[in-house]
Amino acid sequence: MQIIKLLKEIVLTYAGPNAVGIVDLLHDKKNVNEFLIAKKLNLTINQTRNILYKLADEGLVSFIRKKDKKKGGWYTYFWTLNISKSLSRYKEKIESDINNLKSQLTSKKTRTFYFCKNCHIEYNEENALLNEYTCPECGEILAIKDPSEAIDHINKEKEKIDSLKKLIDSELELVNDKEGKSRIRKMKAEVKKKEEERRKKRKLKAKEREKEKKKIKPLKKKKKTSKK
Ligand SMILES: [Zn+2]
Repeated sequence: MQIIKLLKEIVLTYAGPNAVGIVDLLHDKKNVNEFLIAKKLNLTINQTRNILYKLADEGLVSFIRKKDKKKGGWYTYFWTLNISKSLSRYKEKIESDINNLKSQLTSKKTRTFYFCKNCHIEYNEENALLNEYTCPECGEILAIKDPSEAIDHINKEKEKIDSLKKLIDSELELVNDKEGKSRIRKMKAEVKKKEEERRKKRKLKAKEREKEKKKIKPLKKKKKTSKK
């Protein structure tokens, strides 16, 4: 599934390779016991918590905690992966990466860069001038760097990230759509439940009224008889 791959990449970005397995454990579940996560990932509870805290800092996972009497009253944490939040958090990062590449591209296109043929060190205009266009390491005269290779490289990088952003957008739409539908389903179920409760109440009241009537009837008869 595309979304799993994407979530794994997101988790990898924020918490490193040890964390990636968390996606398989959490993606279609809620409130998973941290000791179970540690066991399944083959990590210590502290390593596991470090990973989860890192992810929680970015809003990718959330937790509930319960006091565990068996463990001396310590809290046990139960974790849930926030898929929609993970995607939108990652989208923010991707967008800032894209902006970075754009400004790099502008810089490569509008400014002159120099380099030393021997040491392969690059200098911008200011630093080249400061060193009087001479390599401070070996004394070689600095040459002007042809920017086309760097521009190609940045463009390729940007293409990759652009398509990643498209993928995130479409997955985000799917997830939000799903969440929207399940919200509507829940609302409908709620309405149905309330209707059911009202119906039961009405039935109960009707029964009570029926009982009252039965109680009242003989009274009326008595009244009638007393009048006669
Ligand atoms: Zn040099």
